[in-house]
Amino acid sequence: MSKIRKLSKNVFQKIAAGEVIERPSSVVKELVENSLDAGADDIRVELLKGGKGLIQITDNGCGMSREDARLCFESHATSKISREDDLQRISTLGFRGEALASISAVSRVMLKTSEEGGKKGTLLIREGGELLKEADIAFPRGTSLEVKDLFFNLPARKKFLRSERAELNRVIKYMTNAALSYPEVKFFLKHGSRKVFDYPAVKNLKERIFQVHGSTLLEGLVKVDFQDEELRLLGFTSRPPSARGDRRLQIFFVNNRPVRDNTLQAALNQAYRGLLEKGQFAAAFLFLEVPLTEVDVNVHPAKAEVRFRDNRSIFQFIYRSIGNAVMKELGVKEIYTEQKEGKEPAYRIQERKQPPFLYHKEESLVYSAKPFPVQEEEKAGPHVLGQYLNFYIIAADDKGIFIIDQHNAHERVLFEKYQQIDRGEKWPCKMALTPLLFEFSPSQVVSLEENRELLEETGFRVDSMGGTSYALKEYPDIFKESEAKAVFFSILEGVGLEKIEKKKHLILATMACKTAIKAGESLSLEKMAYLVEELFKTENSALCPHGRPIVLRITKQEIEKGLKR
Ligand code: ADP
Ligand code: MG
Repeated sequence: MSKIRKLSKNVFQKIAAGEVIERPSSVVKELVENSLDAGADDIRVELLKGGKGLIQITDNGCGMSREDARLCFESHATSKISREDDLQRISTLGFRGEALASISAVSRVMLKTSEEGGKKGTLLIREGGELLKEADIAFPRGTSLEVKDLFFNLPARKKFLRSERAELNRVIKYMTNAALSYPEVKFFLKHGSRKVFDYPAVKNLKERIFQVHGSTLLEGLVKVDFQDEELRLLGFTSRPPSARGDRRLQIFFVNNRPVRDNTLQAALNQAYRGLLEKGQFAAAFLFLEVPLTEVDVNVHPAKAEVRFRDNRSIFQFIYRSIGNAVMKELGVKEIYTEQKEGKEPAYRIQERKQPPFLYHKEESLVYSAKPFPVQEEEKAGPHVLGQYLNFYIIAADDKGIFIIDQHNAHERVLFEKYQQIDRGEKWPCKMALTPLLFEFSPSQVVSLEENRELLEETGFRVDSMGGTSYALKEYPDIFKESEAKAVFFSILEGVGLEKIEKKKHLILATMACKTAIKAGESLSLEKMAYLVEELFKTENSALCPHGRPIVLRITKQEIEKGLKR
């Protein structure tokens, strides 16, 4: 008997759906792309339960006829390409004709659409790929799609969905990218009864960046507009020393399609070498225009990646464009020359000095050392010998030598101090002399609203000032004003994603991290001695609140063995 069987349509559609539709944000992405392809300039998305319960999207695009409405759920049904040739020059966001087939195979969908508006609309209800109802309705020109109970018939996939909050965050991330690439389109997002954002149509990218990220970010950006025969790069990028602590705001679009791409990212970061502090990254919103024949957009199931025909010249072009934009802004005339990936750039603004090394790397003292759990009886603590590279405190007692990470150590000390304060009645707080103003991203706003009570409990009180602006009115009185701001900002970044029971830990750990001595800071002997003493008094001097080791110890025996004494 043969072992090979053809899968039923029902099964293979579910398999195919899994490729395209991974989670609520993939549904939103496909549907928003359809609305944009339909020429809409007003797109509303409403979600329940992070999109796991319901995703509803309404647009004012071209709408569909009755016949098209029936067809659009078929696999490989599309109005966007028709011949093989067309694959070489795809100018729409969609082209595979698979999204609606996939979505409707794994959820309950209701489509309402009309080409002309008025009474001539169509209603279709489908469930798991089956048509349940078709009817005439009155509907304004455009399309609305309700997607309920995603993966109701695919429990294996449903299990992999994350918390409502995490799924919502992904939707926010996609929608903000879409909003950035289509400033002239109004985007609206609501979660449950809460409006997450509402960006009315604006004239250009600059105004959209302002709507999404506020004026502080915008002020730190310079415009990029560079063109050669074939390529064009448009957008905004950081004006040094403005920068950010991570790469999250490095956003690339190729022919207006948001993409992840290593070449683009490498070129951007290369252009900033020598211009930013270590650990700092440019923010960038970059739109690359490439001839349709020079780029393949059909390489990723969710169309999140593209492939360039000539990576090298794309790299060079981005590198040069950004370099020129930034240099011009900084008043440096040097023109960017050919640049190989990984090599130092031809220009240099500032030479960064390395602290003198006391030991050569290869003859490092710590080669055999392991993280060292500090035991009870040793709580008296060792005495400080000195500081190494402004990063580590070297201390010793008669049993061995300690290498202590100064930042992690201080973090641990502060963390336990904050825990102690937190066990008390209420965090003592003070009023800001003048309100400290912030501009928050949409996901920070959601995070703030969700965690307001917890934040107030730890001494942070914030008022909305309209739009993306908020004012910090009160903060814990152990902090300086500048610290309070940094602490609060980082708390918002992290706390939204944390499980309820871990939120407090995260808040206290963030406070500790932001107020602790930095790696790279030079310390006096007194300060170090005090820190070491405090560290060895803590309950857990082996690990910092984030779980990284604090102390390495080399025992006297190890030293003797190594030196063959
Ligand atoms: P693709 O976008 O790759 O063509 P989809 O499955 O996403 O495939 O959509 C199938 C077809 O349905 C589209 O080609 C388009 O003609 C039609 N369609 C889908 N969404 C909309 C919409 N919001 N407005 C108008 N037409 C739409
Ligand atoms: Mg589509």
